[in-house]
Amino acid sequence: MPADPMQVIAYLEELRALTADENGAQRVAFTSTWQKARDWFEAKLADLPVQRHIDAAGNVWVTMEGASKRSLVIGSHLDSVPNGGWLDGCLGVMAGLGVLRGLAAACDGKPPFTVKLVDWADEEGARFGRSLFGSSAFAGTHSIAADRGRTDRDGITLEEALRDSGIDIERIGDAESERDDIAAYLELHIEQGPVLERLGLPLGVVLGTKGVERYAITFEGQEAHSGSTPMGDRRDALAPAAKLALELRAIAGKHADAVCTMGSVKTFPGIVTAVVGRCEVTLDQRDLDADVLAKMLREAQEASERFAAEERCSVKWSRIWSIEPVPFHPELIELCDEAIRETTATSYRLPSGPLHDAAEVARVGIPTVMMFVQSLRGISHNKIEDTRKEDLVLAVEAFDRLATKTLAWMEGQ
Ligand SMILES: [Zn+2]
Repeated sequence: MPADPMQVIAYLEELRALTADENGAQRVAFTSTWQKARDWFEAKLADLPVQRHIDAAGNVWVTMEGASKRSLVIGSHLDSVPNGGWLDGCLGVMAGLGVLRGLAAACDGKPPFTVKLVDWADEEGARFGRSLFGSSAFAGTHSIAADRGRTDRDGITLEEALRDSGIDIERIGDAESERDDIAAYLELHIEQGPVLERLGLPLGVVLGTKGVERYAITFEGQEAHSGSTPMGDRRDALAPAAKLALELRAIAGKHADAVCTMGSVKTFPGIVTAVVGRCEVTLDQRDLDADVLAKMLREAQEASERFAAEERCSVKWSRIWSIEPVPFHPELIELCDEAIRETTATSYRLPSGPLHDAAEVARVGIPTVMMFVQSLRGISHNKIEDTRKEDLVLAVEAFDRLATKTLAWMEGQ
C-alpha cells in the first residue's frame, strides 16, 4: 500500500497548529516546543510495528524490523528556525512516516529490509550557530571541543542545553554506532529556492550539496578627513571592496549553478566625515564542482589584489569555514529521476545550495539521494514558506515510489 499523501498533509497541519504561533514555527532544537513536537511524533507511532530509540547525539530513530538487518533509512528534521515555516524539515519526517505506514500495511509489518526513520537533532543550528548537529555526530565530522564553547543569546552553553535534553556532550560521537548496516539514505525536502517554481515543475532530483568556501577579507587604506583630502590623494579601503562586490557577479556568472555572495561589509571608522581606512567584508562561494569552487576562489583572490593595488590599499584573506561538495549516489539519482517522471512526467536535476543532513550521511559513503519539492516564491525560514497542496501530494507519491525502488535496488546490491 502506498503512503497516503492526504494523511501526511494532515500531520503537517496538526504539527503546525501545535508548535507555531502568529510568527511561524517555533520548534527550535533543545527547547520545550521542540520536545513537544517530538512527543507528538512519538504518539503518532503508537499503532505501528516499530521501535523508537534516541541515540547519543539526540537523534530519534524509528525502526521497522525487516527480514534482513540491512536497512533503508529515511530522514529529515523536526526542528525549525525561530519564526520558521511549516514544511522545512518536518515534511521529510512526515513523508517518511507515511512510507512506514504504507509498508506496515503492505508487508504485514515485516518488509524485506529493515526500514528506519530518523529525526536528526538540531539540523538548523538556530540557537547555538552549529548546523547539522545530530547528523555530524552520526558522521563523525563533529568537534566536541568547538561545540563545548558554544553559547546561545542568553549565555546558556550548548553543553548545558544538551544535558537538559538528556545528552552528554562527551558521548555524542557514540551516535556513529547507528551507521551499521545502512544500505541507502533518502530525504524529501522543500527546495527553499526559486528554481523549480521558475521552471513550473513540482519536483526535482538533488545531485548533491554544493561545497562552500567562506572567507573574511580585510582591505586597509588610509583613514582621512572627508573635507580636506582631495579625491586623487585618497586610499579609500571601501573602493576595492566595492569593486570586488560587483566582480563577484562575473566570477560566478561563468558557471551555471555557482553563487558568490558578499554578505557583510563593515567600514571603519564608519562615520560620515572620514574616508574609510579599513573595510572588512565576507565572501561565501558555493558550487557542486570542486574544480569550479577552487577556480572561483582563485579568481576572487586575484581580483581583490588587483583592486587593492589600483586603490593603493592592501588586502588580507582569512578562512572562516569551508566544506567540500558532496555529490549524491549516481544510481539513486537515476531511481529518483524515474520516480519523479512516473509521477509527474517531467524531472529536473539540480544541486542544493543549502546544506542538509543528507550531506553528512553521504560524506561517510552511504548511498544517498534527496528529492526537492517546489517552494512558492522560493521562500523558506519564514512563516510565509509554502508549497501548493497538489505539489505536496505529488511529492509524497514520488518519494514513496523512490523508497519502493530503493528497496528493490537493495536486493541487487
Ligand atoms: Zn531543513
